[in-house]
Amino acid sequence: MELILASKNAHKAKEMQDILGDNVALITQDAAGFGDIEVIEDGKTFEENAIKKAVEIAKISGKAVIADDSGLCVDALGGRPGVYTARFAGENATDDQNISLLLSKLDGVPTDKRQAKFVCVIALAIPGSEPRTFRGECSGYILTEKRGNNGFGYDPVFFVPDHQKSMAELDGKIKNSISHRFNALSKLKSDLNR
Ligand code: IMP
Repeated sequence: MELILASKNAHKAKEMQDILGDNVALITQDAAGFGDIEVIEDGKTFEENAIKKAVEIAKISGKAVIADDSGLCVDALGGRPGVYTARFAGENATDDQNISLLLSKLDGVPTDKRQAKFVCVIALAIPGSEPRTFRGECSGYILTEKRGNNGFGYDPVFFVPDHQKSMAELDGKIKNSISHRFNALSKLKSDLNR
């Protein structure tokens, strides 16, 4: 089955394709010819943003579309940055700028109060049907400095207790078997196979 992925993040697309396996062919928004469409993520929840992106591209393309909205929720920051994760340090912030801001906000916060979770919500929009969402989470702690070079985003400062490593120290295959995106995509996969 073919699904358009409403995202321009090639790294994410590769991770998602690896997780979904051979039964689903993910076509990126660019490859499908809708690269110039920019959906504004102005929702208050991951669900709202994911649905908005998937529904808009499904309407324009007439095809089945999935969109994900993901982010980091830090307990000591009352769940922030949440839906603002990508632009935590400003509209076009780099990963390094976002990480620096996060570490500065958590300066002095002891290890046992540094719990956080990555959240991923996938929305599936099929023209003519109500959109559906699938939520996955992955719990861990925020480190005090970066560790590892794999992955992307906040991976270097996200510690995964079960593996005693940062997400960026984990092999990509292992990350893809425990991540918030894996958990959300697994729910989507079961739904598609019903
Ligand atoms: P969006 O879902 O593309 O809006 O991005 C959400 C933000 O969360 C980005 O800044 C990513 O860096 C971050 N993020 C999402 N998933 C991951 C992940 O697996 N590892 C690290 N950071 C992530």
